[in-house]
Amino acid sequence: MIGLLERGVALADLARAMPVALATFDPGSRPTGLVIVDEVNGFCTVGCGPLAPAAPNAQVDRMLRETVTLARRFEAQGWPVLAFLDTHEPGKPEPPYPPHCEIGTGQENLVADLAWLETSPVATLIRKDCINGFVGAIDARGRNSAAEWITANGLGAVVVVGICTDICVMDFVLTLLSARNHGLLGALRDIVVYEPGCATYDLPAEVVERLSLPATATHPQDLAHHMGLYFMASRGALLAGEIA
Ligand SMILES: [Zn+2]
Repeated sequence: MIGLLERGVALADLARAMPVALATFDPGSRPTGLVIVDEVNGFCTVGCGPLAPAAPNAQVDRMLRETVTLARRFEAQGWPVLAFLDTHEPGKPEPPYPPHCEIGTGQENLVADLAWLETSPVATLIRKDCINGFVGAIDARGRNSAAEWITANGLGAVVVVGICTDICVMDFVLTLLSARNHGLLGALRDIVVYEPGCATYDLPAEVVERLSLPATATHPQDLAHHMGLYFMASRGALLAGEIA
């Protein structure tokens, strides 16, 4: 069992071994878009399904506050916002996760503080049924609505926020880096992860043991968040603690 003190020491050790640094990102005059990953009830609203926080969580609350502020700034400037919404057909599983964000449960909808995006003129909503939003945006004919959103808006930069830092945010960002380097994304240059706008979940080892879950379900929030940031930065994403 890892106590709080040991967790703090583990994070300090990890941060020394795999450092990350947050910068200020200045969009300047470049067209910049905001991508919000999965800030839906099923991942963010207390008690709203098996993958939602069981109790209020400071990191999730900070993410929501920061995202609302940033999204309002983008809307006020007339800059485009893309929101991914994890959404599943009832009964169609997404292993290794338990059923979540099924259509009709309300879990698949934006949290109350972001529901205004549904009618915002700057916002595009994309529902997806897999972790990776770049893959989830591909339709049956092979068109990718996320890539089209980037190229149609002539974006030079995207700022990414959302949940989970080390899962849906990371998979999307890493794939976007490859797609950019492969020349699929027009003028896109900077792929920025805004750290205060990201969060992940906490599933300590002792809970995993108590629930008889596989050991790989263990997911300490602070360490997983840090590792997600590290891998995105090490692959070429820019980490920001502030947007100028
Ligand atoms: Zn899902």
